Amino acid sequence: MSAPARKDRLPSAAAATAHQREWFAELHREVAAGSPLALVNADAPQEVFRAMGIPYVVNQWWASIVAAKRRTPEHLARLRDRGYPDYTEQYSSTSLGSAFDPDPGSAPWGGLPMPSIVLAETTGDASRKIFDVWGEQPGVTFYPLESAAADSVPERWWELMPHRWEEAIGRDRIDLMTGELEGLIRFLETTTGRRFSQQRFTEVMALVNEQEEWNRRSRDLIATARPCPIAVTDGIPAVMIPQWHRGTTWARDAAKRLHDDVAERVGAGAAVCEGERARLMWIGRGLWFDLDFYRRFQERYGAVFVWSMYLAIAADGYVRYGDDPLRALAARFAAFSDQLYTPPWSAEWYVKEALAHGVHGVVHLVSDDARGSWATTRALRAAGVAVLELHADNVDARRSDPAFLDTAVGSWLETDVLPGTTS
Ligand code: SF4
Repeated sequence: MSAPARKDRLPSAAAATAHQREWFAELHREVAAGSPLALVNADAPQEVFRAMGIPYVVNQWWASIVAAKRRTPEHLARLRDRGYPDYTEQYSSTSLGSAFDPDPGSAPWGGLPMPSIVLAETTGDASRKIFDVWGEQPGVTFYPLESAAADSVPERWWELMPHRWEEAIGRDRIDLMTGELEGLIRFLETTTGRRFSQQRFTEVMALVNEQEEWNRRSRDLIATARPCPIAVTDGIPAVMIPQWHRGTTWARDAAKRLHDDVAERVGAGAAVCEGERARLMWIGRGLWFDLDFYRRFQERYGAVFVWSMYLAIAADGYVRYGDDPLRALAARFAAFSDQLYTPPWSAEWYVKEALAHGVHGVVHLVSDDARGSWATTRALRAAGVAVLELHADNVDARRSDPAFLDTAVGSWLETDVLPGTTS
């Protein structure tokens, strides 16, 4: 999860990537020595594992590494060979392909060690099935979390979430997830012998809030900076690698380092693209198999991607204050996918972010399994923002040939975006 090495790489992005490599090597050693290992979905409450000292790998992070190394096709082939679909939710099923790897040592980064527990929220039929198959593997337990919904939707949820999350999400959903987390803790204590300490958990939750507050400051700086100070392909690893380590002092400090890098560049008037002509927003998951994609438009057209959901959701979607840390954690995740994918929650947020960042256009990656994409496109267009929908998968290049992507985005820039910009 990072851009190819460059001389002008953001120091915080380089440091985060280096840390991730060391951490993964250490993880291999721990698991080889008998440690339990969890595989958790990106939108699952990882903080419980952090507080209990149980190492975990984030499912979608691993998929991004496999895709960046162009190994997704062979992972999908292993699923296909066993009679499972290779054309649905590839981002979530890549790691399952790793579980069937006959030679894991030759996989990227030494391969994904076999987990003992997998944790996911059951959003959608395919996702549930992927994890059911995980649960059938020897020595693996699948711990599912419900995916609940509410009848009423808060307006401007991003203003309510830090302190008024009970009101934004609703008591029933938070009660449900709190109960499930209590069950998860009991399960982990029983199966791993590790203890859950309330004091340690409170520290973890406080560190996460600090980390996300730094991300919020970074996001706000980038929103108002002209020209854009950092490459989106640096911002993504500099935010997301620490996100996978959240609840540690390293992660909190890494978020501050990113902020300081951004502030320094803004102060110096640094531009990621000399001659910036257009500011673009990228909605959707990272295009991991083609990370050069973003830079090509900057070089050819002066069109700079200034926004990705990774920094923005870190800024708006995670902070939860309150006296009951387990309930606050439930509130962090009970409506997490609503924030990104369920209209009107998601659509209103993307419009807010597009306007705050002053973008001239939005490239909207629409995967087959993305929920509510149509509402996001419609809301942005209604707000006067040009939108290009790219129907492609973010890890499966079979339907997303770079030549097709370049032509689609290039001609949209020429006809819909650049004529409306002033320089
Ligand atoms: S997978 Fe990501 S972090 Fe690893 S080398 Fe490639 S780009 Fe860098």
